[in-house]
This record gives sequence, C-alpha cells and structure tokens, in this order.
Amino acid sequence: MKKIIVAIDGHSSCGKSTLAKALAKTLHYAYLDTGAMYRAVTLYFLDNQLDYNDPAAVEKALGEIRIHFERVDGQNHTFLNDRDVERAIRELRVSEHVSPVSAIPMVRRAMVRQQKEMGKRRGIVADGRDIGTVVFPDAELKIFLTADADVRTSRRHLELAAKGIDAEWIDIRNNLLERDRIDSTRADSPLRQADDAIVIDNTLLSEEEQLEKVMEQVRRVMSDE
Ligand code: C5P
Repeated sequence: MKKIIVAIDGHSSCGKSTLAKALAKTLHYAYLDTGAMYRAVTLYFLDNQLDYNDPAAVEKALGEIRIHFERVDGQNHTFLNDRDVERAIRELRVSEHVSPVSAIPMVRRAMVRQQKEMGKRRGIVADGRDIGTVVFPDAELKIFLTADADVRTSRRHLELAAKGIDAEWIDIRNNLLERDRIDSTRADSPLRQADDAIVIDNTLLSEEEQLEKVMEQVRRVMSDE
C-alpha cells in the first residue's frame, strides 16, 4: 500500500503529539516530533549560555548541534549530540525560550532541511506549526488541531506531573498563550492553517474519538490514491 505523509499542526498543547503518536502506531509509520527539535536547539543555547540574539553564536551553534530520535523503552526519545534530552527539553525553562529561538530564520532553515530529509521515505506522521504549510506542503493529509485554552493547560499540567515536572497551572497557561502569540505572529513561517487542512477541535473529544476521526480521513485519502 502507498505510504503517505500526515501533517498535524496547531496551537501549543492541544494534543498534537498524542494524536501523532497514536496515528503513527496504528499505521506503522514513523513519528516526527518537530517541536522536540526546536526544543533541543533551545536547550543547547541555555546549557551553553549562548546568546541566541547573536547571529554569529547561532550559526556556530547550529554547526555543532546534532539531533536524532531513538526508541527508548518503546518511547520516542530526542537526542542532542548523543545525549538523551527527552526530559530536559520538556521543562518550563525550555518552553519559555523555545518560541523566540524557533522564530530565528537560520534555526528554521536548518531544522526544516533535516525534516524534509526525514520525510523522503514517506510513511511519516509529523507534528508542529508549519508542517502542512512549509515542511510538507505536499502531504496527502493535513490536520489542524485546536482546543480550549483551559483544557489545554490542564492536559499539559497533567502531562508534566506524570513526568515528575512540577509547574504552576497559571504559569503553564501563560506560557501556552505566549507561545501561540509568538508562533502565530513571527515573520518566518508563522503558525497558520493550510488551505487544504481539516480542522478538528478536540476540546470535547477523547483520544480514541480523535484518533477515529483522523483514521476516517486516512481511509478516505488512501481510497482516493
Ligand atoms: O510542539 P511543541 O509545543 O513541543 O513545540 C515547541 C515550540 O517549538 C513551539 O511553541 C514553537 O515555537 C516551535 N515549533 C515551531 N515549528 C514547529 C514545531 C515547533 O516553531 N514545526
């Protein structure tokens, strides 16, 4: 059967990665977490006390950064220069800097190049902010997810608590809304819905209901191919 690309975009913490992982598992596809790549770049800047407003420092850092994904105990983990950073990149200190870092065109160019390379094999579910518009504009299926901000905050709060990361509900909410604002208003590849994306508001949907809705679309696309 022909392998397709599924692009999932949307606001912060509206369940893109939960959906993408479940879909990748169901379809036996690879999952590409593009947000994790921007988070890993941000972690590199923070850990090495580099100023990401300095173009020379950004260029040098990008030459030194290698990101790859590996399965660890059945989960997708992000590696930065061969170090497992899966937990560190989810911390609030990274979330607080990731949107300005990912607004830097040089950073975007480097990440998008790597993401396009990973998509060459097709058979991929990728989530992020510019997947359907910039990274894989030719994706066979594009989903744009949205959800109520309070529901998103509570989900994120639970997710972080499950990882043992302590953060205040209100700080999480402020961070989500601030990232949405920066991601949607940046000059280079802002978050926006692709013209051919299917919008799903999952505020009132369970994970299973959401997956089923998307699987309906996958079946439709496959039968059209
Ligand atoms: O998906 P996640 O919330 O982990 O992404 C973290 C941040 O990375 C986003 O808030 C956004 O600033 C940036 N990002 C992006 N483009 C993508 C994926 C993520 O700019 N494709």
